[in-house]
Amino acid sequence: MTAAPAAGPRAAATFLDALADLVAEGDVVVLSGAGLSTDSGIPDYRGASGSLRRHTPMTYQTFTRDPRGRHRYWARSFVGWRQIRGARPNAGHRAVGDLQAAGLLGGVITQNVDGLHQAGGARDVVELHGGLDRTVCLHCGDVASRAGLDERLHEANPGFGRHSDEVNPDGDAELPEAVLDGFVMVGCLVCGEEALKPDVVFFGETVPRDRVEHCFGLVEGAGSLLVLGSSLTVMSGYRFVLRASRLGIPVAIVNVGATRGDAKADVRVDGPLGEVLPELAARLTG
Ligand SMILES: [Zn+2]
Repeated sequence: MTAAPAAGPRAAATFLDALADLVAEGDVVVLSGAGLSTDSGIPDYRGASGSLRRHTPMTYQTFTRDPRGRHRYWARSFVGWRQIRGARPNAGHRAVGDLQAAGLLGGVITQNVDGLHQAGGARDVVELHGGLDRTVCLHCGDVASRAGLDERLHEANPGFGRHSDEVNPDGDAELPEAVLDGFVMVGCLVCGEEALKPDVVFFGETVPRDRVEHCFGLVEGAGSLLVLGSSLTVMSGYRFVLRASRLGIPVAIVNVGATRGDAKADVRVDGPLGEVLPELAARLTG
């Protein structure tokens, strides 16, 4: 871990000391982002589009108004789901679970949609941008499991995308158009409409108001706000840093590289979460 510009091992240790002192006071509310899951092989979803893509993010407008765009989203997502399903929590997720088990956390808010906090032992996680493990029907509102959808999609699309891993070893399920068009989507189990959406917040979509208010409540009751692995570029997360800062609640940020919230941070550790968090948890829970 390093800090700009004249950082050496001693400076890094000092920042970790300051972080440990703050977290030891308890009632820490965690706000995590994509950087926490990169060690688990999850690409940076940025805004939780939920499909493995590198180029154009899916927007809510395209998804809801363009049947062809929606169809292609599901085709790519069907292939990309293998990578999500196979992902495992990393040392950073487990360290958050350990800090919570030790009674040091007042809440966990995540911008991630991968479910890895929960798999890593965290409880009562608020999924700010929803979760990829379930779908919601835009027609009737039914919420169903993604695993169940995956089974139905496999039945409807035997062999589909079988060779995509050879084409894109990095897991980006960018498929040729003709292949995408051959994908067969299935309908909602309740109403039958072909209107399923992953239960995640797309670009251009707002986070449900009650969820936001719940998070503000957590932050307002916090002893400190600990940002993990987020550059805070999207306002949906950054607003919690602004709220904490305005209320005089200390803000700590652990991230690789600069973040939008650095000027508001009382403690800043620039280092890999997979190293910083286990060290932090070892100090405080050992
Ligand atoms: Zn439905």
